[in-house]
Amino acid sequence: MVAALREARHVVVLTGAGVSAESGVPTFRDAQTGLWARYDATALATPDAFRADPALVWGWYEWRRAAMMRAAPNPAHHAIAALAKQVPALTVITQNVDDLHERAGSAGVVHLHGRLMQPRCFQCGTPWRYPVGIPDEPEGGRRVTPPDCPRCASPIRPGVVWFGEGLPADEWQSALAAAAGCDLMLAIGTSAMVYPAAELPQIAVNTGALLVQINPQSTSLDGIAHWNLPGAAGITLPALLHTAFADGMNETA
Ligand SMILES: [Zn+2]
Repeated sequence: MVAALREARHVVVLTGAGVSAESGVPTFRDAQTGLWARYDATALATPDAFRADPALVWGWYEWRRAAMMRAAPNPAHHAIAALAKQVPALTVITQNVDDLHERAGSAGVVHLHGRLMQPRCFQCGTPWRYPVGIPDEPEGGRRVTPPDCPRCASPIRPGVVWFGEGLPADEWQSALAAAAGCDLMLAIGTSAMVYPAAELPQIAVNTGALLVQINPQSTSLDGIAHWNLPGAAGITLPALLHTAFADGMNETA
C-alpha cells in the first residue's frame, strides 16, 4: 500500500465526521445533547424547521459554530495538508461542514454538505459574513434571531445542506470528477452511509482506483476497500504518510 501511495498521480481524500470528532467538534448526532437533546434532527436541519422557527435553528448552528471555532485541526488534518505537497495532485472532499481542513492549510476543499462559515440569505441566496470572533453562548436559552439579508431583509440561513436539499451542484460535480479520475482514494472517518456522498468510493473503485479506508469502526466500505486500516485517523494517517514519504513529511511536519 505504501508503494501505491507513493506512485499515485491523483489522490482523493474523502473525510467524514470521524475526522472532525477527533478535534472535539460535535458530530451531527453528538450535537443533539445537553440543551439540544430533546430536539429531533428533523426539527433543526430542514428548510421547514427554519421557516417554522428561524431563531431556534440559527441558535443551534451558532452553538455548533462556537464549538467548531474553539476546536483546532488535529494531526489528520495536518497530514492531509502535508500530503498535498507529496503527490502530483490531491483533492480533498469532505462531508464535514467545519473549516478545519482549511485551517490546517488544505486548499480547494470540496465541501459536499456546505460550510458553517458561509451562510447566505434564505430567500435570495446573497452570501453573508459573520462578525469576526467566536459567538457568545445564547443568553438565557437556545434561540438566536438570525440576521437580516442586506438585500431583501429575509433571514440569513446557515450555509449547510439540510435534509431534503440537494448537494451544491458545483461541489458534487467536482467530487464526481475527482472520484472517477483518481488512482487512489483514502476514505477517512466516514461511515459511508449518507448518500449520495457514499457513492464516491464505489465510483473510484469502479473506475480502477485503489481504496484505502481508515476508520476505528467497520463500515459498509470494508468489503470494497483494498486496505482497511483500523484506528484513529490522527494516529494512523500520519504514521502511514511518514512511512511512505519519510523525508518529505519530516520537512513539512
Ligand atoms: Zn436576501
